[in-house]
Amino acid sequence: MRYFTIEQHEALRAALTARAALLRETIAGALAGQDGAGLPNRSEETDDDAVVDLQSSLDTTQLSRTTLELREVERGLERWHTPEFGECADCAEAIPFIRLQANPLAIRCLACQAAHEHAHATDIHATL
Ligand SMILES: [Zn+2]
Repeated sequence: MRYFTIEQHEALRAALTARAALLRETIAGALAGQDGAGLPNRSEETDDDAVVDLQSSLDTTQLSRTTLELREVERGLERWHTPEFGECADCAEAIPFIRLQANPLAIRCLACQAAHEHAHATDIHATL
């Protein structure tokens, strides 16, 4: 059972919406090459092909990270509309508003997140 107010709920949606808008802008800017951190025409800035290649691959990595984050935020917005939003995915306790404020995409309370990360780390060792 979540316990934040309607205002807090709305604030989280606003944060997610603003984040999604910013990410879309970043992606659009990168694709259009308008913000100076875009993909195209690195070769105009330097004659060093290696630098161009490296920079392009950094740009591509950044762009795919941004795209992944946008997907996460969009999933968060979908979750926002469900009764489960704000509830821990593992123990169904309320995720404290302050935690959601810091990270509206959090799907676990701190205790379960720590346990999940510990279990995940253990899994990796177990399969090796
Ligand atoms: Zn939990």
